[in-house]
Amino acid sequence: MTMMAQEEAARFLVGGVNSPVRAYKQVGGEPVILARGRGAEVADAAGRTYVDFLMGWGALILGHQAPPVIRALRQQLRHSTILGLTHPAEVELARLIAEAVPSVEQVRFTASGTEACLTAVKLARACTGRDAVILFDGGYHGHVELPARVIRVPFNDVDALEAALKQDGASVACVMVEPVPANTGVLVPQADFLARLRRLTSACGALLVFDEVVTGFRLGPAGAQGRFAVAPDLTVFGKIIGGGLPIGAVGGPRRLMRRLAPEGEVYHAGTFAGHPLSMVAGAAVLRALKARPPYQALERRSAALARGLDAAARRAGVPVQVNRVGSMLTMFFSERPVRCAADARATDRARFARWAAGLRREGVLVPPSACEAFFVSSAHAPRHLERMVQATERVLRRGPS
Ligand SMILES: *Cc1c(COP(=O)(O)O)cnc(C)c1O
Repeated sequence: MTMMAQEEAARFLVGGVNSPVRAYKQVGGEPVILARGRGAEVADAAGRTYVDFLMGWGALILGHQAPPVIRALRQQLRHSTILGLTHPAEVELARLIAEAVPSVEQVRFTASGTEACLTAVKLARACTGRDAVILFDGGYHGHVELPARVIRVPFNDVDALEAALKQDGASVACVMVEPVPANTGVLVPQADFLARLRRLTSACGALLVFDEVVTGFRLGPAGAQGRFAVAPDLTVFGKIIGGGLPIGAVGGPRRLMRRLAPEGEVYHAGTFAGHPLSMVAGAAVLRALKARPPYQALERRSAALARGLDAAARRAGVPVQVNRVGSMLTMFFSERPVRCAADARATDRARFARWAAGLRREGVLVPPSACEAFFVSSAHAPRHLERMVQATERVLRRGPS
């Protein structure tokens, strides 16, 4: 990236960006402007290459320019970008999701994960006739202000949830949760946490909504709900199911989904809802995941990466906590385990910033925030992971400078 490009960006875009974290304010330094990507690597506007662990904030499980996605997009571009009525690929992508995720019978597509989360909450309120929503501290469900009373409780704290439900249970429409939080940095749900959420919500008549925008098709074909064997009432999808194009979706049983217009009274519509390019790209990814499931290999490689980072930090004498579920990881700079958002906020974020800046100089890109996940894709070969481990050791050994 050149200084010129950055000045130009700041002139015409607010803060030089279209999404705040890209401004690099949390880690300092000039924002990276990325021009292209292939496999596990990206290049900035000046042609400098990096091993990429952002992976489109988790959207790219097959890496950049995955051949099935590029083929599907080329073919669709010969027919149209947008047609304005229902396209066959909308049905195909919905079928692929419903076949992979047992709690889903029907799907409604949106243009973003934010919009899908909002739609899921509106749907839960209509289905229950109740108003309030329980969320977890640090959980991210897009940038919308929810049209409801919001109660927040700490992740991994069943007692706090139980207390909130005891007090307000009769007015709670839904509990919405990232089953494996990514937007606080990865938090590992403690044994039974999700199962107890399921029991508590069922007991008080509230819906359980899993925000699987990150975890859907990342932690396995049936997402976090498959991995932890807990079925929510409604699921929100995004990121991976769009194959790298904008998307969101709400899925659930027909009995709940039919409350959406045109069958029911919950209005949702969108010019770009079910956009043909997103649909064909998403369907290409889901077909590829089904034909050749990458999950065991991702698990193995991600576990090796986590061990490697932990060992590198230990050798450098720097206390870290590598939190990992499947191919979602966060390296927290902390002596204590990180189990909730408050723990994550208490980690050494200045040290994270130095690590991220050091990695960047070494040609390795991680999200520019201490409280985000980084991702391994099926395009990451062992050499990419080794590069990150070795760069980490060099950077941490150098110490504060
Ligand atoms: C990214 C994300 C969203 C929002 O999706 P957008 O497409 O960015 O609007 C919602 N929930 C979670 C868990 C996310 O990671």
